[in-house]
Amino acid sequence: MDFRAITLDPETEAFREEVVRFLDKHLTDEVLQEERRTGNGHHPLFHAALAARGWILPMWPVDEGGAGLDPLRARILALELAWRGAMSVSISRLITTTVALGLRAHASDELKQEVLPAVARGAALMCLGYTEPGSGSDMAAANTRSIREDDHWLIRGQKMFTTGAQNADYVWLLTRSDPDAPKNKGLTMFLVPLDLPGVEITPIITLGGERTNTVYFDDVRVSDHYRVGPAGQGWQVVAGALDAEHRMGKIEDRGIGDDGNLGTWQGLVHRLTDAGLRWSATARHPDGTPVIDDPLVRERLARVALDAEISFLTGGPMSKIVTAESLIRGAADLVDLVGPAGTLSADADGAVCDGEIEFLHRFAQGTAIYGGSIEVFHNLLAERMLGLPRARMRPA
Ligand SMILES: Cc1cc2nc3c(=O)[nH]c(=O)nc-3n(C[C@H](O)[C@H](O)[C@H](O)COP(=O)(O)OP(=O)(O)OC[C@H]3O[C@@H](n4cnc5c(N)ncnc54)[C@H](O)[C@@H]3O)c2cc1C
Repeated sequence: MDFRAITLDPETEAFREEVVRFLDKHLTDEVLQEERRTGNGHHPLFHAALAARGWILPMWPVDEGGAGLDPLRARILALELAWRGAMSVSISRLITTTVALGLRAHASDELKQEVLPAVARGAALMCLGYTEPGSGSDMAAANTRSIREDDHWLIRGQKMFTTGAQNADYVWLLTRSDPDAPKNKGLTMFLVPLDLPGVEITPIITLGGERTNTVYFDDVRVSDHYRVGPAGQGWQVVAGALDAEHRMGKIEDRGIGDDGNLGTWQGLVHRLTDAGLRWSATARHPDGTPVIDDPLVRERLARVALDAEISFLTGGPMSKIVTAESLIRGAADLVDLVGPAGTLSADADGAVCDGEIEFLHRFAQGTAIYGGSIEVFHNLLAERMLGLPRARMRPA
């Protein structure tokens, strides 16, 4: 589906066509199918191809390894990537770019020099070490300890759902350095190299087939060089990276293009629409009539298509909510329309549309959780965009 109403000027249209040609060449069916099989969230060759164009950090200046794209071109790049399903093989890239913003704002010059040029040339990947078994939405309750010893720190604890750790060189780690300080004031951020002794990464495979991880830190000895920002001010350091992930603030300030939010997945709602259309083109009701002639089927397909367009048009943190809700609702609607065959996976006899609807139905559920749950995004909208008072949790 493409309902775009804007005609681009010839130069901008030439840029869009360049992106399309790039994707034709590098985002092949084989690349996408491999991702569907592994749920790895990263494809080294596709990543290297993006890096060669400066498209890891598309809006960063060329002399910092970016492509210096203006916001319109960055948006075009993000949309074309989303449309073609590049999100799934770019999870590690998207995570890395949000960490890069945090590093650019808060890391020492030496650490920036060590890491940021490597990020831009596609040679360094990061993962996010926020969530723990006892703290998810309430990130500031993190309990992984960092203990100062002379010129280094000992890190001890466990992180959950550390997506992309299996591909990453570093983890952007939220730690508790002062257990006696108030919750938000005893935190310190680190960029911990993942090849240090004492780091153990174990896989978790989600319902949607994505690989994420548990990461254990068993007295990992980290040089103070890898501390980011002052000890005890981890909350202030992490805030900028979180804002980028939540798509808060102006795109110019985020500077990484417009696909920062890992939860948006807008292209998937389009894929869902396409799958529904493909199914309806050939399917028949038990009485032999084509389903596409059924006004109820047409109305429900149109609703999925409309949701897809709305999620592309919605910006900032709202896009996360709209997209996750559209995907969950639309996938459930299509499974309902298709009937039992809609629940057959790609490798099963009788699977509909190569199992696409079944896959998207499973995959949709996680989009409402990671990168912050949609309930937490509702709070964010209420407080930061509508200026409403902070939500208070009722006492248990
Ligand atoms: C596939 C996947 C990948 C992930 N990747 C990463 C990653 O790379 N790095 C990382 O650090 N984390 C990652 N996460 C963790 C994710 O960010 C957390 O799962 C999420 O923030 C929710 O935390 P929780 O699971 O502890 O649930 P909880 O915080 O315990 O929430 C449980 C329920 O309560 C609701 N709730 C909680 N607080 C509030 C509130 N204040 N107001 C209203 N409702 C509330 C939530 O919406 C949810 O429905 C990932 C999770 C998944 C599933």
